[in-house]
Amino acid sequence: MTNQVHSLRILGSGSSTGIPVLGCDCKVCQSLEPKDRRLRTSLFLETASGKSLLVDTGPDLREQLLREKIRHIDHVIITHDHADHLHGIDELRPFTFNPELAPIEITCNTVTSERLRLGFDYLFSPPPSGAPIGGGRPRLKLNTMTSPANISIAGEAFEFFSNPHGSSETLGFIHGSFAYVIDCHDITPENLKKLKEAQLELLIIDCVQLEPHDTHLSFQRALDFIAQITPQKAGLIHMGHRLAHLQLEGLLQAQGLNSIFVCYDGQRLEYRT
Ligand SMILES: [Zn+2]
Ligand SMILES: [Zn+2]
Ligand SMILES: [Zn+2]
Repeated sequence: MTNQVHSLRILGSGSSTGIPVLGCDCKVCQSLEPKDRRLRTSLFLETASGKSLLVDTGPDLREQLLREKIRHIDHVIITHDHADHLHGIDELRPFTFNPELAPIEITCNTVTSERLRLGFDYLFSPPPSGAPIGGGRPRLKLNTMTSPANISIAGEAFEFFSNPHGSSETLGFIHGSFAYVIDCHDITPENLKKLKEAQLELLIIDCVQLEPHDTHLSFQRALDFIAQITPQKAGLIHMGHRLAHLQLEGLLQAQGLNSIFVCYDGQRLEYRT
């Protein structure tokens, strides 16, 4: 491990509906605590060499990019094909307008790649010859991983893995001393071994609610995995509207879990490779 410092911004920390949930009068949705306002979960990484990577393109992407004043994206990772991680992909269009810049490469699994080609054919399919394209076709390049692999992105080594998410699978990754484990109801023994061996400085992990959930990690499941992986610091993310920020912080403090924190929108973190 060298001492290259990479920065990470939490673009959004909420579950599929975002918080507040439309039409919901619950305490968290009505909360005045700014950290209880959660856009759909997404990350932005800036590598020590100045490359910028977006992780997921959810429906709130426009608002997130404007809020964080992000003006350039070199690469995109899409963890899986659910709407809350994918449906803002149109917002990448302006980032590809400058013909002097390389097309934006999108790394994803086969299911996501097929979903993109079918559901967003206007972004990825060549137009019928001669037909004009309203707004122009963005220069996006799909990099489909048929199985999770160790690959180089923006000159950096990324180790991808796949965890079960209900009946589908979600990509996670390790970059240096950081790992991202999102949208999964379990971590396979093989991946758990990898995550333990990585001696992580920072883990960000799915935590949708207190009660058990069929397709996500609950609070207790997330804590159990953190205890096994033993990162220096761990952040909980993808919270639903039954979890208030201060309530979760209180639960962690009550158990003396000082190295675990609750992610919030706009939070800035760093890690090394
Ligand atoms: Zn999700
Ligand atoms: Zn609510
Ligand atoms: Zn999902």
